[in-house]
Amino acid sequence: MMQISSQDFLLRNDKLPERAKDSKPLILIVEDEEAIVTLLDYNLRSAGYDTIVARDGEEAVDLALTMAPNAILLDWMLPLRSGLEVCRHLRRFPETNDVPIIMLTARSEEQDKLRGLDMGADDYLTKPFSPQELLARLRAVLRRAQPARLKEILVFADIRMDQGSHRVTRGETLIELAPTEFRLLRHFMQFPGRVFSREQLLDTVWGREKEVEPRTVDVHIRRLRKALNGKADSDVIRTVREVGYSLDQP
Ligand code: CA
Repeated sequence: MMQISSQDFLLRNDKLPERAKDSKPLILIVEDEEAIVTLLDYNLRSAGYDTIVARDGEEAVDLALTMAPNAILLDWMLPLRSGLEVCRHLRRFPETNDVPIIMLTARSEEQDKLRGLDMGADDYLTKPFSPQELLARLRAVLRRAQPARLKEILVFADIRMDQGSHRVTRGETLIELAPTEFRLLRHFMQFPGRVFSREQLLDTVWGREKEVEPRTVDVHIRRLRKALNGKADSDVIRTVREVGYSLDQP
C-alpha cells in the first residue's frame, strides 16, 4: 500500500508519475474502516492492481486529481466529505469526470442506490460483498472505460499532450512540466480559446486548495510559458488584462 498524500507528492516529485510504462491499473480505495481497507488492498494487489488509499473525502479528491487513478472504490460514509459529495465533486473536473467510480455502502435501500448513480457513480456494491464480486464489477467498469481513456490525446496548434503517458511535445520538442503546469495546460487544452479568471483556474486546476492566493496562478502561468516557449516559439498563452488567461493561437 502506497501511503502518500497529494501534498507530499507535489513537493517531492517535480516530475509526473510515468504510469504508462507501468501496466498495472491504479485503483484508489476510499475507505475509513481499516479492516475493509486491508481486505480491499490485499485482494486488489493479489489480482494485479496497484492501490492507493484515502481515508477521508478530502484526501480522496486530492489523490484522485493528483494520481489519476484508473478507477475509484468509494465508501459512502466518510469523514470530512461524504462519498456522494466526493463523487459529485470529481465529476466536475475534466481530469476525473470519466474515471470509473464504484460506490461501496452499508446501505441497501434502492433510493440510495439511485442517488449514488445519479451523482455519477458507475456501479454500486452493498456491504458486505465478496472480493470476487468486487473484482468482477471492477473489471467491468474498467473495460467500459478503456476506449475513452485511450483517446486522451489533446492537440492545440503544434502542442500535443498525451494524457496516458503524460508526455507533452511542442513540434518535435519534448516539454517537461511539473504537475501543476501539466494540469494547467491540460485545462487550457480542453477549452482552447476560452478565457479563465485566476479564481476559475484555482477552482479547477488546484481543486479545493482555496487558500492558494490568486497570484500563485501568475507564477505557474509564467513557468508554463517558459516551458512551452523555450526556443522562442510563439506564445500561445494570452493574457487578458483584468480578466485572466486563455490558450490561443499566437
Ligand atoms: Ca465508512
